[in-house]
Amino acid sequence: MNNTTGETRRPRPGWDGYFLALAMVASTRSTCLRRRVGAVLVLENRILATGYNGSPAGTRHCTDIGCLRQELGIPSGERHEICRGSHAEMNALAQAAFSGTSVRGCTIYSTHEPCSICGKLLINAGCTRAVYLYPYPDDLSRELREEAGLISEIFGDEGEIRGILESATPQAGS
Ligand SMILES: [Zn+2]
Ligand SMILES: [Zn+2]
Repeated sequence: MNNTTGETRRPRPGWDGYFLALAMVASTRSTCLRRRVGAVLVLENRILATGYNGSPAGTRHCTDIGCLRQELGIPSGERHEICRGSHAEMNALAQAAFSGTSVRGCTIYSTHEPCSICGKLLINAGCTRAVYLYPYPDDLSRELREEAGLISEIFGDEGEIRGILESATPQAGS
């Protein structure tokens, strides 16, 4: 498709692709040494809050002073409590709480599948759908989400998200 300047335009992304691309952008603010995660809470296609994994506001980050989980070589998915950082999903929920925003009925768009701790919080905050790009092996999380009726969907096409991010160039000149 061509616009008036003859420039080729990418088709508009769908909502899921659009919000996952925003979750990818949120992940660029991460201060975790191991994995960069971003999340966006959405209700009726409107953004309620965003988050990325990192330490609480006003505290030093793992990127500044190192991370004990990293130093001890703790495997993925274990002993989250000894890291200073909290997960993107937690931080997004906390951001909603900060501004007094209900997330009841929301969809969470995240770069990674929520772990069991985040899964529990999302269920009780009233999140009803999770869409993510990368699976994360946490059987308890899957079991709990399924049992609670929180619909979980993997977005199968990482290339589409990359394409959306690459095409994010506002039209130059007149
Ligand atoms: Zn850490
Ligand atoms: Zn988590």
